[in-house]
Amino acid sequence: MPVEPPNDVIAHHQRVEHDLRRKAETAQLLLDAARYLGETLEIERVYDRFHELLADAIQHDGVVVSSFDERESLIRCEYAWVEGEHVDPATLPELKLSTAGGMQSEVIRTGRPLLENDVGGRVAGDEGGTFYDVDREGTVRKLPDTGPTHVQAAMMVPIKDEGRVVGVVQLMSDERTYTEDDLELVEGLVGLMAGAVRMARVQTEHRRAEASEAAAQAVAAEREQAARVLEAVGDGIFYVRRGGIVRFWNRSAELILGLSSEDVRDRPAAEVVPGWEAITDQVAITEGDELPRVVRVPVEVGGQELWLSFVAVGRPEGVVYAFRDLTAERELEQAKSDFIATVSHELRTPMTAVYGAARTLLRPELDLPSEQRTELLEMIATQSERLAQITEEVLLASRLDRGEVTVERDHVDVAELARGTVDAMQSHLGVDVTLDASQSAFATGDRDRIQQILINLLDNAAKFSPRGGGITVSVSQDADHVRLAVADQGVGIAPSEQQAIFEKFYRVDPHLTETPGGTGLGLYICGELAGRMDGKVTVESEPGRGSTFALELPRSRTAE
Ligand code: ADP
Repeated sequence: MPVEPPNDVIAHHQRVEHDLRRKAETAQLLLDAARYLGETLEIERVYDRFHELLADAIQHDGVVVSSFDERESLIRCEYAWVEGEHVDPATLPELKLSTAGGMQSEVIRTGRPLLENDVGGRVAGDEGGTFYDVDREGTVRKLPDTGPTHVQAAMMVPIKDEGRVVGVVQLMSDERTYTEDDLELVEGLVGLMAGAVRMARVQTEHRRAEASEAAAQAVAAEREQAARVLEAVGDGIFYVRRGGIVRFWNRSAELILGLSSEDVRDRPAAEVVPGWEAITDQVAITEGDELPRVVRVPVEVGGQELWLSFVAVGRPEGVVYAFRDLTAERELEQAKSDFIATVSHELRTPMTAVYGAARTLLRPELDLPSEQRTELLEMIATQSERLAQITEEVLLASRLDRGEVTVERDHVDVAELARGTVDAMQSHLGVDVTLDASQSAFATGDRDRIQQILINLLDNAAKFSPRGGGITVSVSQDADHVRLAVADQGVGIAPSEQQAIFEKFYRVDPHLTETPGGTGLGLYICGELAGRMDGKVTVESEPGRGSTFALELPRSRTAE
């Protein structure tokens, strides 16, 4: 017959079996809990699920999850559920970590869980202890100061992150007491909840980082777009931050002031911006809704004076300057007023002569001898011709500007044309003209316009040879060009002026009294006409020794 094991052995076995079953159940519960908690990444949902799990596993009347901020030594409520109601954690006060009493504080300080089955006794007892009691309206009572509690038992479990206490979970019951097993189970659940909260936080952080990166990208894209627009505008724009450092310098600023963005960015405006002193002195900074006032400032750039019109708009962190180069407009204005002065002067001389001669002829009491009358009439004719010539020049220059002048493509023997023109002008010029144009030289061009250029060059050669000296007209050709040159031994032209004389209205020393009159349009017209015939007018000259102007035209091959 089988031997019955002694009772104590049976009891031991039963205990072990019960223990094992409980452990297995706990393990199963924790596994399920881990999965359940891991399914959400919203912190609020994690707390709700944690509470659901607690409700299934252990009876309680209240649960409070608090976080602990080590730097500020503050305990804040994150989640509270009391007697069947959620309490908004924001309505609960923050608590300072206390060094004495305070059950939560003790858990935080020691990092160990706490199980108290006689909360009332503990807070009333000698070793003391504060206990914060929350009711379902969210009213917090500090015990024992505000009287006895209805809470019977409480479990407090630290929430840890890499060994540091970052919070406490507090579980309370009004009716029952808790066991070490209960505590162990709560510890397990708290561990899982802490992990899930950490994951949720990481996720929230991640989302926040993503959102802020997206926002940063949107701002950057907007800035880039704005910068691109500012780069593309025709006005120079630069930005000087408070403290005087240049932070932005657009393409037009580079072009107008001849300084690259690299040269000036991040450097003090006072050191790098040309004319900075004049700009800050004269340009008022507009603030708010005021209309910016445009100020013209002369600024020296590379030895040349530019006229820039500036506005400056104040921003909280600095000043935006926008400017436009008005040098060309200003030069044009200057040229216009010079032109009016020149033309009026040029017209007045012949007109006074014509008027004087006409009035003399009209006086009945003066019985003029016939040769004197002829002289006066000749003068009227010459001066009228001069008037017509000036008017013609002005009109032609403006038609050239408007692109209204067309030229013929004749087959022209330039040598023959030169011979004819010199013959016709010889007497009128009053200077000796030597001709070197015996051989035919055919060019493509407009016969009348070529002659007009030659007359102009001859006129100038005579006009700027005050001491006389002969003029030589020569025609030559090479493989591609025919060259018609007019050389004089007159005043000559300084190298620095040799390009400018081809500009409209340009005259060397126009204010000197000994300078012969003129509109400054002759060479401009010659150059423009030559260009339209695919040719050009060039000059070689030495001051005091004379000049050689030459018209170069494409050689014509058709009739050769
Ligand atoms: P204008 O003769 O009516 O003044 P132009 O355009 O023909 O105008 O000439 C411009 C300037 O170029 C003249 O004012 C003069 O100073 C200079 N110039 C032109 N031709 C000669 C020349 N043969 N010798 C010296 N200077 C000249």
